[in-house]
Amino acid sequence: PPVIVWFRRDLRTDDNAALSAAADSGQPVVTLYIREAADGTGPLGAAQDWWLHHSLTTLGTSLRALGTPLILRSGDAGKVLDDLIEETGAETVYWNRRHDPAGIEIDTDIKASLKGRGLAAKSFAGELLHDPTRLLTGEKKPYRVYTPFWRAFERDGEPHEPIDAPEKLVALHPAPKSEALDDWNLLPSKPDWATTFSDIWTPGEDAARERLETFVDGAINGYQAKRDHPSIDATSMLSPHLAMGEISPARVWHATRGLKAPTDDVIHFRKELVWREFCHHLHFHFPALAEKNWNDRFDAFPWEGSTKEFKAWTRGKTGYPIVDAGMRQLWQHGFMHNRVRMITASFLIKHLMIDWRRGEQWFRDTLVDADAASNAANWQWVAGSGADASPFFRIFNPILQGEKFDPDGTYVRRFVPELEKLDAAFIHKPFDAPESVLKKAGVVLGKTYPRPLVDHAKARERALGAYKTLKDG
Ligand code: FAD
Repeated sequence: PPVIVWFRRDLRTDDNAALSAAADSGQPVVTLYIREAADGTGPLGAAQDWWLHHSLTTLGTSLRALGTPLILRSGDAGKVLDDLIEETGAETVYWNRRHDPAGIEIDTDIKASLKGRGLAAKSFAGELLHDPTRLLTGEKKPYRVYTPFWRAFERDGEPHEPIDAPEKLVALHPAPKSEALDDWNLLPSKPDWATTFSDIWTPGEDAARERLETFVDGAINGYQAKRDHPSIDATSMLSPHLAMGEISPARVWHATRGLKAPTDDVIHFRKELVWREFCHHLHFHFPALAEKNWNDRFDAFPWEGSTKEFKAWTRGKTGYPIVDAGMRQLWQHGFMHNRVRMITASFLIKHLMIDWRRGEQWFRDTLVDADAASNAANWQWVAGSGADASPFFRIFNPILQGEKFDPDGTYVRRFVPELEKLDAAFIHKPFDAPESVLKKAGVVLGKTYPRPLVDHAKARERALGAYKTLKDG
C-alpha cells in the first residue's frame, strides 16, 4: 500500500527524515501539504503567505523531479489525512514533528486517531538541532538561561549528520487530486505590497543552499565584528529559509565544520543558531510564551501608547531615523536586521510604552522569517519580561545606537530616502540640525520628515517611572 508524507514546516527534500524513510519503504509515496486553519500549523502572517506560495512551487518542482507530484489540500489536517487515506488505501503517514504548542496538539491527536484505527504514524525530528527534551539541566529541568544551554551544546550538542535527499520516489497511479495553488490566494493583489520582496529573496530549498554556501565561503569571515552593522551584508539571511524548513539547522551547523574562517566567527554564528534553538526550547516548555509575560511581575505594567503612535511606528514615521529605517526595511523586504529589530522593539515598548504583544503581532504579520518561538522570545527579551532577558531599565538611546552601528548613516539613507542628503553628523538626529543644514539637504521637519514622536530623555524618564511602580508595587 502507498504511504503518505505530510509536509509541514519542512519544505525541503534534503535532510528530511520523514521523506527519506518513506522513500526507503519502497512503497509508492504520496506527498501532501495541508493548508490548515490559521490557529493550526498554517503560516503565521501575510508576508509568509507570499513566501509559502513560492516555496510550495519549488518544492512541487523538486518532488516531481524525484518522481511524484505534491498534493495540495486545505482544511482540518486530521480530516484531510482521513480523506486521502480512504482515497489511496495508504496505511502509514510520515511527518517531521513540530514543537510549537499548536503543532504538538495536532500531532498528538492525529497520531492517536491513526493508531486507534490500526494505521501507522511515523514522526521524525528535524525542525531543530535537538528535540527540546534532550538537553536539560543537571536536575532534568528545562534551561531558563542561555549561557548554560549553550555550554550543554558545547559538551554534547553535536547534531545528527544530515542526510541527502532521496534519489527517487515511487509514484502512485493515478495521482490523487490536488487543489490549485493559485486558488489559495496566498499572494497579495490589490495592492501588491510584496513587489520589493523578490529584490532580495528567492524562496525554496535550492536558494537556501545557495545562501548557505555563499555565506560560509564569504561573510562568515568577520561575522562576529560585522554582524551588528545593518548596512553591511554580514549575516547569513537564512532565517526565512529556516523558518519554513527549507533548510535544516543540522545542515547549516555542519556546513560550518572544517572552514578556514576564524574559529571565533564560526562559534559566534553557531551561538546564534543555538539562540534559535533556545527560543524553541523556551516555547516548548512554556507554551504561553507568545501570549503571556514569562515573568508575571510585568502583568501589572502600566502600558500606554495611542493607536496613532503605534501606526506611526509601523509606518516608519517616528522621527527617529534608525527606527524608521528599520520599520521601512521590514515593510519593503519582510525582514529587518537583528540590531535594528532590538532598537525598534525597544522604542515601541519603552519610548512609546506600548505592550510588546502588539509589536510581536506586527512582526509576525510582516516578517518573512516570522517564527512564534523566536519572535516572542526576542520581544520578551527586549521587554525585560522574558527568561534571561535584558533588564527593562537598559533603555536603548536610538540616536546613540544609530551613531554606533550606522555611523555614516548608509542604512538610514537606504530606507529613509528623504534624509539621503543630510550631513552624517545629523543623520541620526535631524531634529538637532541647524536650519541651514536641513535646508541644504532639502529636509523640512514636520513636512518631508516627521518631528520626533517623543523626546528621548522624557520618554526614558517616563518608562523608568512606570517600571518603578512595578518594582514598588
Ligand atoms: P544570522 O546572524 O545569520 O544568524 C543565523 C541564524 O540564527 C538565523 O537565521 C536565525 O535562525 C538564528 N538567530 C540569529 N539570531 C537569533 C535570535 N536573536 N533569536 C533566535 N534566533 C536567532 N528570528 C526569527 O527567525 N524569526 C522571528 O520571528 C524573529 N523575531 C525577532 C524579533 C525581535 C524583536 C528580535 C530582536 C529578533 C528577532 N529574531 C527573529 C532574531 C533575529 O533578528 C533573526 O533571526 C536574524 O536577524 C535573522 O537574520 P540572519 O538569518 O541573517 O541571522
